[in-house]
Amino acid sequence: MTLKPEDFQHVNYLWDDHTADALDPVERLRYRSNLLGADQRITNTGGGNTSSKIKMTDPLSGEAVDVLWVKGSGGDLRTSTRANFASLYMDKFLSLENIYNKAEVKGVKTEIEDSMVDMYRHTTFGLNPAASSIDTPLHGLIPFRHVDHMHPVSVIAIAASRDQERLTQAVFEEEVGWVPWQRPGFDLGLVMQEKLKQVPALKGLVMGQHGLINWADDDKACYELTLNLIEKAARYVNQHDKGEKTFGGQRYQSLDEKARTGILIKLLPKLRGMVSQANRFIGTVHVTESVLQFVNSSDAPRLAEIGTSCPDHFLRTKIKPLYVDWDPQEESYEVLVEKIERGLAAYRADYTAYYEACKHPDSPAMRDPNPTVILIPGIGLIAWGKNKSESRVTAEFYSLAIEVMRAAEAISEYQGLPRQEAFDIEYWLLEEAKLKRMPPEKEFARNVVVVIGAGSGIGKATAQRVAKEGAHVVCADLSEEAARATAKELVEIYGVGIGVAGTRISGCGPAIGLAVDITNRDSIQSMFQNVILAYGGVDNIIITAGVFVPPDKQGYIPDEKWALTYSINVTGPFLVADEAKRIWQAQGLRSSLVITTSANAAVAKQGSFAYDTSKAAANHLVRELAIELSPLVRVNGLAPATVVEGSSMFPRERVISSLTKYNIPFDENEPTEALRDKLAGYYAQRTLTKSPITLADQAEVAYLLSSNKLSKTTGQIISVDGGLHEAFLR
Ligand SMILES: [Zn+2]
Repeated sequence: MTLKPEDFQHVNYLWDDHTADALDPVERLRYRSNLLGADQRITNTGGGNTSSKIKMTDPLSGEAVDVLWVKGSGGDLRTSTRANFASLYMDKFLSLENIYNKAEVKGVKTEIEDSMVDMYRHTTFGLNPAASSIDTPLHGLIPFRHVDHMHPVSVIAIAASRDQERLTQAVFEEEVGWVPWQRPGFDLGLVMQEKLKQVPALKGLVMGQHGLINWADDDKACYELTLNLIEKAARYVNQHDKGEKTFGGQRYQSLDEKARTGILIKLLPKLRGMVSQANRFIGTVHVTESVLQFVNSSDAPRLAEIGTSCPDHFLRTKIKPLYVDWDPQEESYEVLVEKIERGLAAYRADYTAYYEACKHPDSPAMRDPNPTVILIPGIGLIAWGKNKSESRVTAEFYSLAIEVMRAAEAISEYQGLPRQEAFDIEYWLLEEAKLKRMPPEKEFARNVVVVIGAGSGIGKATAQRVAKEGAHVVCADLSEEAARATAKELVEIYGVGIGVAGTRISGCGPAIGLAVDITNRDSIQSMFQNVILAYGGVDNIIITAGVFVPPDKQGYIPDEKWALTYSINVTGPFLVADEAKRIWQAQGLRSSLVITTSANAAVAKQGSFAYDTSKAAANHLVRELAIELSPLVRVNGLAPATVVEGSSMFPRERVISSLTKYNIPFDENEPTEALRDKLAGYYAQRTLTKSPITLADQAEVAYLLSSNKLSKTTGQIISVDGGLHEAFLR
């Protein structure tokens, strides 16, 4: 029975003839792939692949040849462009079967099977650099022109059920066949080909413990078939939904949002420290009704232990999550922390045992034994990844696994992948080779860097500098608008990443913009709370915020301006450090703080009492904090000499005040830029290096002081002033 698109309830029918018909055949494949990838019920981020066999002109012979265009390795269907598809000469690809068959030992997980992946490159059509994935033979060996391989929750539920073969028959009747779990590769392609030879009427196959594959000779028909099959499976699951009895019913209640947020703010830095002893992780908090129903349920401990089923999932989610059996109604926060500590120790031991039991002589070394998914009743799901994008994907995958378990337990009994099979995916030499090919991680990868004053000037330049090093950048500023603008620029450059998950601010990309008034402890606290909810913790803080209040022409500074200067330049950095201290101590990870002081701190002169003395105090604050926060946090000072370029610290009045102070002739009617140039020129000439000092010069040192390149330097002030002998520290 074919369902009509207008009757679909569980998938969105998005095909538009008008759009599709304007595209060339490869773009039509891209279009179909984007439509399929846009719906999480159809496939997960980064999961599944699509293909079309397209007649094209061979650039060498000028003849028409069949070319297999198939989604390549890496990337994601939702966001795929033409560049994500590999292209292979069909005749050359099919000739690989001879090579495969000649091997003495062949079949799943054999050397010849793994070596086929490298052979695909020899069949490349049109110098296309896109790398073919391990799923290529699933597409190439099926004799239909269009193939979709998806990871739909409703079909994985069937594929992850104890009686999957019977369910496939019950749901799809003769339309779709079933193949048992087998690691993707050339052999699985042959298995499918054989299945189709036996039953030529088959339109698709349920792949045990994995997903769905189906085909057609027309691309729109293939898309419609994919949706049809998923809709059918979803309807079947829906008819068997257990309602309140789902997951054995509820054992705990969810905490209200205020209580939950309060616990997360305390817990996340501590948890981050616990899982990050070998490698730092970035967190994502994912709280939905469905996640809560799972973590609060009676069956959660049993189901969590079985682990995730879809092989695509557990490369990120690990073989299983850590479920913490904590009673949110009866037990305290302290008990929660204690249970997590014990849970983590047991998890690591378990993971090590799994590695030892399943490893082969040539297996890669054991990877980080910490869980990447942590489930807490009453609270939700916390995921960890090497960056925000990865941690969001991890959260997405486990929340999809919850949907799979819900459906599988509704129609049958959920079943995990056998441990050895899971291991052979996780530690697959091909995967290891992929990991090894990745460029080395950048200096600030896995780090959260908070730049206070990031709305303009040195702060903005510093935010841009650390982002280049792979940092997750919190752009904080008194002006929320300016902070957000800097963050937006960074997200536009580096991309928001993949993964559809993260509750509220935790769904963010690699940079966020937050308001902060560093003269107000509550405001600082609230900023850090948002940072914790967004990323799970804080590594480095760079404070560039500061104020210069010019005295009037007689050198007079009103008392309240004196107080304001100290409040921003001295008390502010102290309050930031004092609030950050709690987070740093909870994490227990090496971190750094950079405070921007000034060359003025060391030079006594006329006309800038408040500023100069406040910066001298800031210099000493650096030293005191270096002692106070050791050994965990290095604290250093960056002492710029007045950078005039693009600085919000140089409004017209200050420029005029300085020109007057240095007896530089000027005309009150000159435009501000001209006055600034005069002042910058004067500053450059009085330095030893005789060059203007730029924002980039300051940002470079702010970055270096924060980085591990200066890991043995603390309590120091580095001047970036072009060389001012009167400002030499001694
Ligand atoms: Zn797959």
